[in-house]
Amino acid sequence: MSPDSPSKKELIAVKGTHDILPGEVEIWQKVEAEVKRLVEAYGYRELRAPIIEPTELFEKGTGETTDIVTKEMYTFIDKSGRSITLRPEYTPSVARAIVEHRLDLLGTPMRYYTIGPMFRYDKPQKGRYRQFHQVDIEVFAEKDPAIDAEIVEMADSLLRSLGVTETETRVNSVGCKACRPDFSRALRERAEAVRDKLCEDCRRKIETNPLRIFDCKVAGCREQARAFPKITGYLCGECRDHFAAFRRFLDLSGVGYKVDENLVRGLDYYTKTTFEVINLSGGQQNAVLGGGRYDDMMKDFGGPDICGIGFAMGMERLMAMITLKPEPRRFLYVVHAGEAAKAKAVELARFFRRGGVETLIEFGGRSFKNQFGRANKLGSSWVLIVGEDEAAKGIYQLKDMAAGTQTGGTPDELLRRILRPSCESAGD
Ligand code: ATP
Ligand code: MG
Repeated sequence: MSPDSPSKKELIAVKGTHDILPGEVEIWQKVEAEVKRLVEAYGYRELRAPIIEPTELFEKGTGETTDIVTKEMYTFIDKSGRSITLRPEYTPSVARAIVEHRLDLLGTPMRYYTIGPMFRYDKPQKGRYRQFHQVDIEVFAEKDPAIDAEIVEMADSLLRSLGVTETETRVNSVGCKACRPDFSRALRERAEAVRDKLCEDCRRKIETNPLRIFDCKVAGCREQARAFPKITGYLCGECRDHFAAFRRFLDLSGVGYKVDENLVRGLDYYTKTTFEVINLSGGQQNAVLGGGRYDDMMKDFGGPDICGIGFAMGMERLMAMITLKPEPRRFLYVVHAGEAAKAKAVELARFFRRGGVETLIEFGGRSFKNQFGRANKLGSSWVLIVGEDEAAKGIYQLKDMAAGTQTGGTPDELLRRILRPSCESAGD
C-alpha cells in the first residue's frame, strides 16, 4: 500500500485536498459572484469544460518538459484502456473546446472564463494543494498588446474590488520562436558554466528548456540565475515593440507594476508577455495569479493559427488575503407542537419559502421551549408560532427576534411584514 492510500480506520480527505465548509463557503460564493460580475463587465463568457481530459491534451498543450506534465499530473487508465488526466490547468481545455466546436468560426469574441477545481500532484503545504481552485481567463484571436494590458488591468481591478491591496504586479516578455533560440543558446552556455551549482532539475533544463531555470524555486539556482543573460536583451523587433506597447497601455491604465526580467513562468507555451501578481506577505507560495500570451499553442497542437492570452488565479491563495465576512443570514424559524400543528407548520414553511423567505423547521418532537431555544441559538430573525389553537384559527404569531416584538396575522400578512417590515410599521 502506498503511504497516501487511506486505510480503513482513517477515512479522511485525500492528502492535499480540503473541504470548504459552511461558514467559509459563503465567502467563496461572494468572491465567485464578484469574479463573475467583474469579468462579465469586460465581456467574458463562462465556458465549463469537463474535469477529465485525454492525457495527450496536456502533454501537447501544457508541454512535455513542464513540471506539470513530468511530475504533477493525476493520470489513470479508465476501464476501456484510455489514458485520462484530471485537469491540472484550464487553458488546454479551452483550446480543445474552441477547436472541437469551431468557436473561432462563430464571429463572437473568444473571451472565456471558468471557476473550478484543478489537480496537481504537488507537495502539499500552505497555499499548495493537490485539489485547488482557479479562476481562469482566456482570450483568443487578439494580437494587440492593448489586450495584454487590459487583462492585467482586469486582474488588478478584481483584486482591488475584493479589498486586496498588498500585492505587486510583475511583467516580462519571454520573446517568440524567432528570438528565443539565440537567447536559449546564450543562456545554455552560461548555465553550463555553473552546472555543478545548479539543482538536478535545472541541470536537466539546460538541455530541455534553459529558460525555465529562472522558474526554479531552489535558492542556489535563483542566485545563479540572477547573473544569467536577460531575455529583454535578445527580443526581436516585433517582440520589443509588443512589450513596449503593452507597457504603454498599462501605464495609461494606472496599474502599478514592475518589470521582472527573470519572470518566465512554468509553462512551455508562453510567448511575448508574461505576468504575475504576488502577495507581498505571502511567504513561499506567494503567486496569487499568473499568466501570459500563447500565440503558438493552438497551432502547435493541431488547431487553427489563433493567438491566445490569459491568466489563472489561485482561489485558495486569494482567499488567504481576503478579510470579507459572510453576511448574517436572515431566516424564519417555525416552532410547532402537536401532530395537527406539525402538518400545518410544514405547509406554512412551504408557503414562506415560496414567498422567498429562508425558512427552517426542525422535527423530532422537541418542546416549544426547546424549539425557541434553537431559534435563538441559531440566530433566526423571526419565529413563527404554530400551536393547535393557531392552526385551528389560521391566525399565527410572528416574533421579530431583534426587536423583541410579536404580531398576529394571516400567513399573507406575516409574509408582507417579513418582506417589507418598514412599510408595514409605517402604516401601523
Ligand atoms: P507555483 O509556482 O506556485 O507552483 P504555478 O506557476 O505552478 O505556481 P500556475 O500554473 O501559473 O501556477 O497557476 C496559476 C495560479 O494557480 C498560481 O499563481 C497559484 O495561485 C495557483 N496554484 C498553482 N498551483 C497551486 C497549488 N498546487 N495549490 C494552490 N494553488 C495553486
Ligand atoms: Mg506549480
